[in-house]
Amino acid sequence: MQSRREFLRTAGAFAVSASLPLDRIEPELILYNGNIITINDRQPRAEAVAIAKGRFLAAGTNEKLQALATGNTKKINLEGQTVVPGFIDAHTHPAEAGLMHLRQVDCDLRSIAEIRNAISERASKTPAGDWVLGFKYDDTKTSDGRPLTREDLDAAAPQHPVYVSHRGGHTAYVNALGYERANVSEDTPDPAGGRFDRDPKTGKLNGRISERASEIFDKAIGANYSRADYREGVKLICKMMSRVGITSAHDAWGVHDYLRGYQDAHDAGELSTRIYCMMHYSEIDRMLAAGIRTGFGNEWIRVGGMKMAADGSISERTAWLSQSYVGRPNDFGIRVMTEEELYHNGRKAHEADWQIGTHANGDRAIDMVLRVYERLQRERPRRDPRFRLEHCTVVNDSLLQRIKSLGAIPTPFAAYVYYHGEKMREYGPERLDHMFALRSFLDAGIRVAPGSDYPPGPFEPMMALQSSVTRTDVNGNVWGPKQRITVEEALRTQTLHGAYASFEEHDKGSIERGKLADLVVLGRDPLQEDPFTLVKIPIERTMVGGRWVFGA
Ligand SMILES: [Zn+2]
Repeated sequence: MQSRREFLRTAGAFAVSASLPLDRIEPELILYNGNIITINDRQPRAEAVAIAKGRFLAAGTNEKLQALATGNTKKINLEGQTVVPGFIDAHTHPAEAGLMHLRQVDCDLRSIAEIRNAISERASKTPAGDWVLGFKYDDTKTSDGRPLTREDLDAAAPQHPVYVSHRGGHTAYVNALGYERANVSEDTPDPAGGRFDRDPKTGKLNGRISERASEIFDKAIGANYSRADYREGVKLICKMMSRVGITSAHDAWGVHDYLRGYQDAHDAGELSTRIYCMMHYSEIDRMLAAGIRTGFGNEWIRVGGMKMAADGSISERTAWLSQSYVGRPNDFGIRVMTEEELYHNGRKAHEADWQIGTHANGDRAIDMVLRVYERLQRERPRRDPRFRLEHCTVVNDSLLQRIKSLGAIPTPFAAYVYYHGEKMREYGPERLDHMFALRSFLDAGIRVAPGSDYPPGPFEPMMALQSSVTRTDVNGNVWGPKQRITVEEALRTQTLHGAYASFEEHDKGSIERGKLADLVVLGRDPLQEDPFTLVKIPIERTMVGGRWVFGA
C-alpha cells in the first residue's frame, strides 16, 4: 500500500542497507508479548519481532527484541495474541473474481427467494434492457431442493436479460430476455460441446445452459471492461483477501489485462496482496517475444509460470478419471487438452526457462501431464523447473512417486472437503482416501501448496485449516480421514510451501530475519483450538511489507 515511487525508494534503501548487518538498521516497529508461530525450524516460536523497511529484522524473546528499540521505534503490545506468517493462496483468480464482485450479483445465498431479491434489487438500479449478471450460485446450497428456473429470473427482472453463472463455472441460468438476446429459441439446436437444458416433462428450455453453450451468451453479453474496471476489481479483491489474512496470491489464469490491472492498482497504492501471475498459455508467444520469463517483476507483482489445463472440474464432476463416477458407469470425466497440445506449448515455455503449471484434477489427467513434464525434463534437463500440478486432486502411489522424483508441486483444494462435502458422494468414500491427498504428499516429501481456486472454492485460510485437519464437511460427514494432517503441517503448507511454489521461499512464508514482513494476528491460537472450530478463529490484523492492510 505505497506509491510506486515510494516503493522503489524503500526497496532501494533495503538493497543498500542489506549489506549492513541487519541489527544495525533501526527497527521502525516492534511487536511484543506475542505467541509467534514462525514456521522457521531453527526458531519455531518467538515472543517479539522487529520490523524495518518492510522486512523482519529479528524475531526472538521480548527482552532481546526490546533491546533493539530506539527512541523512534513504535511498539505494539500483542497481549498474548497469536501471530503466523501471511497466508499464501497458491491457486486463485483474484483479478477475475474482483471484476465479478464489482459488476455482478453475488448469488452465494441460501434460498431461491434471496437470490430473486438480490437480482431484483440490482435490476432496479440497472437501465431496462441492460444485462443483470450473477455469479457463485450453487444448486446444492439452497434450501429449496430445486434449481433456479427461467421463471424465477423472469419474475425477478422482467425488463432485463439475466445470466447467473454456477459457482463451478461450467453451467449458468438465464431468463426469457436472456435467451432472446442470445438468439436462442425453442428450435435452436444444441451447440457443439454444450447444451441448452430442457424441462424433462414439457421439453421446453428451462433456463439452464451447460459447458460451451456459455460462449453464445458471452458474445451476447460482450462484457466490456475498462482499464479502470480492472484496477477497481483488484482493489476490491485485495480488501477481501486482506480481511482473511491472505498476503500473497497466485493468479492461476493470468492474461495481460489482469497483469496491467495489478500494476495499475499497485501504482494507485491499492494493491495489498502480492501477486504471482501465472500466464494463460495463449499469452506465451507475446511474453517470450518481450524476453519476459518466470520471476520477472518485483516483490509485489511477479510473472509466474505458464498455465495450461488438462481436464474438467471436481465441483461439477468432470475431472478425467481412471474409474468412473459413482452411479454413472460410463462417465470418466472430460479431457480438455491432448498430450500433444500440452507438449507443444510446454516445450516453448520449458526451453525459455518458464515454470509450467497445468490444471489436472483426475488421476488420468495427472498421469498425462506428468508424462509431458518427464519428457520435457528428459529432452532438456533443467536444474530446478518446479513444475506445478494445479489441483492434482486424485492420486495413487505411482503418481506420488513420479511427482516426488520430478520435484513437482501439487496445489490441491484445501477447503473442498469442508465446503463442497455434498458433492463428494459422486467420487465415493474409497476414492476420497486418495483425494486432496495432503497426508500422502507430505509423507512422500512433496512440497504441497494448497489453493482455493476462488471463486469456485472459498478462500478463507481458517476454513482450509479445519478442512485439512478434520476432513469433515459442514454437515459432519467425514471424507477420506486417512488424509488428515496436523494444524502445524497445514499452516506450513499454506505459508512456506506457497512461497516455494513461486520460487520465493527466501523472501516469504516464515517469520525470520530478512524476509518480507507479511504476517497475520489471530484471535485465538489454532494449536490450542478444538479442530472443529478452527474456521471460527477471528482474523484480527493483517500486515504486508510492514504495513497494516487490515485491522490496524
Ligand atoms: Zn483455477
